[in-house]
Amino acid sequence: MTISVKIIESGEGETRAQVFFGNQPPFELYVRASTTLSKLGDCWASIVLPVAMKLHQDIYVDGALSAEFVLSLDAIQDELLKGHPDFAKVAICAKSITRDSWKSKRTNRSKALFYSGGLDSTYSALTQGPELELIAVHGFDIYVHDRRHWSLTLDLLRKFSAHQKMKLVVVETNVRSFSDIYTSWGQDYFGSALAAIGMSLAEKYHEVLVSSGVPEKYTKWGAFQSLFKAYSNPSIKFTDDGIEPRTFKAHVVSDLGYAEYVRVCWKNLESRLNCGSCPKCIRTRFEFESGGNGAFPPGLDTPFSNLGLVKQPLSKIDAVILREDSRWLDMNHTPAPRGFRVSMFAARTLGVLKELPRKYAPKFLKTIYKLSAKKN
Ligand SMILES: [Zn+2]
Repeated sequence: MTISVKIIESGEGETRAQVFFGNQPPFELYVRASTTLSKLGDCWASIVLPVAMKLHQDIYVDGALSAEFVLSLDAIQDELLKGHPDFAKVAICAKSITRDSWKSKRTNRSKALFYSGGLDSTYSALTQGPELELIAVHGFDIYVHDRRHWSLTLDLLRKFSAHQKMKLVVVETNVRSFSDIYTSWGQDYFGSALAAIGMSLAEKYHEVLVSSGVPEKYTKWGAFQSLFKAYSNPSIKFTDDGIEPRTFKAHVVSDLGYAEYVRVCWKNLESRLNCGSCPKCIRTRFEFESGGNGAFPPGLDTPFSNLGLVKQPLSKIDAVILREDSRWLDMNHTPAPRGFRVSMFAARTLGVLKELPRKYAPKFLKTIYKLSAKKN
């Protein structure tokens, strides 16, 4: 079967597409921004690609792809395959292939950074220079229907960009209403989603920075350094920035006086930028406590507790990041306390035990688990 993507005519700051799977009703997807968006299908092919590779289905784009993007598709798929052996290489055809239309305007384009208010992107914004513009996406870590939490977050992002005199471009998209059904956002998808949004903004930017969280030598999950390199082409470059451990980033951000601008939480609880109790809040609190200068992000100012860490089963990514943090502290002669190391080991053991049923359960049980997860 082939996944068909029909690009719909839309205004300057919007690109829309219908995604068809056989005879099912199409997914109606959009990307909207406070600036001009590309009308090429490169963005939409990138949005569909990890799903098509996971389902082993080819893609047909009823619209135009740029020749530059088409030439990079082989390398992109090779990179996605490295991290995802269950994916398969697929064919991508389009109604037409064109040379990119913004080449002549290249000198007018600038450089931007994906900015969520997280520790990684705040560090990159502070260290990569004031000439950067910031791109904030509503619909990625905060769902598009969660308007109240987005409004709270956007206030913080605007406060930071105004303080730094950096232009903030706001993008909104509902692509997760499609991708979450077939892929895991963290494990499979978000690198391609970031590249897709970058491509939709290629008339404005020649280079887009993506803040690193985890070195790819540990894991090639949804986003990693060589995937962004593969998504780069002569029309737009993606640069992975800030491979340094997060404890060091907390040290720099708090030293520069910007801890109060950091929001990291995945829970998106009402009226709270950081919940203070999820695994990401707990490890960020540890990073500021051990690397910072006494200032904390909102909601993370209560003391770090080893018991709090043990109560949260750690994912592989969380454990890798905390190990990198510990190494940085060792190198700086302020090793993490023994109690912390024991708690980290216990929390990761719980994480592995939690992952076992999902990894080794028969397929029908995994399907039931996914259905009940959706209901929740
Ligand atoms: Zn949290």
